[in-house]
Amino acid sequence: MYFIANWKMFGGLNTLNSLHNVEKFLKKFKKNKFTKIIYCPPYTLIRPMSKKLQKSRIKVGAQNCHEAEIPGAFTGSVNPSMLKNVGARYVIIGHSENRRDGEDDKLINRKIKTSLKMGLKVIFCIGETLKEKRKKITKKILIKQIKNGLRNIKTKKNIIIAYEPVWAIGTGLIPKIKDLFLTIAFIKKRMKNVKILYGGSVNPKNIQQLKIIDNIDGFLVGGASQDYKKFIDIIKKTYN
Ligand code: PEP
Repeated sequence: MYFIANWKMFGGLNTLNSLHNVEKFLKKFKKNKFTKIIYCPPYTLIRPMSKKLQKSRIKVGAQNCHEAEIPGAFTGSVNPSMLKNVGARYVIIGHSENRRDGEDDKLINRKIKTSLKMGLKVIFCIGETLKEKRKKITKKILIKQIKNGLRNIKTKKNIIIAYEPVWAIGTGLIPKIKDLFLTIAFIKKRMKNVKILYGGSVNPKNIQQLKIIDNIDGFLVGGASQDYKKFIDIIKKTYN
């Protein structure tokens, strides 16, 4: 199971101290071998975090990147090779908060291609808005995002998909368990041998329901991952 922490635009150097507790927990955790933990802090914390986790099984990822292969005049941007250089091994691409700010499928596709080429593993986010859900076009939207986002990408080996309904992110809402099972199955049918995660308001309470869904390969956790106790709780409860 994957547990990915998306810290969004939160966290300073002092917040890195909490990682020590997660490591301590992992060392004693019986399911350690089956558990992959990836922390995606803001750009500013990638280097100090990866240094801190040098000998750890916990990996570090970024929350986005620029699509250019070669560094250049792109003020405020960071490309995949720069991320790799400071210790990132993963990158989240296509998060709805970035789609909302104007990233389209074409740009997402370029970012994914560059990231894979530079040797990063990609956590590719897809998901429908509330309006699309109400119109009952979720499947159509997911197919469009997958098709366009992964256009001309032959090997899916280094891609993980995070199904994140936009209406579930940061709202405290989660899909109905049966609906979520069916949506994950739908994605899996299309994306054979690709890990499919769920993301959207996962917390230590609702994980009790979510863990019942046996076709999910893990969780992308936003808000709750900023509190290490909640994050550990989510991991523990997933297996119990
Ligand atoms: C996210 O931002 O990817 C996310 C899942 O956020 P939250 O858990 O806060 O809904």
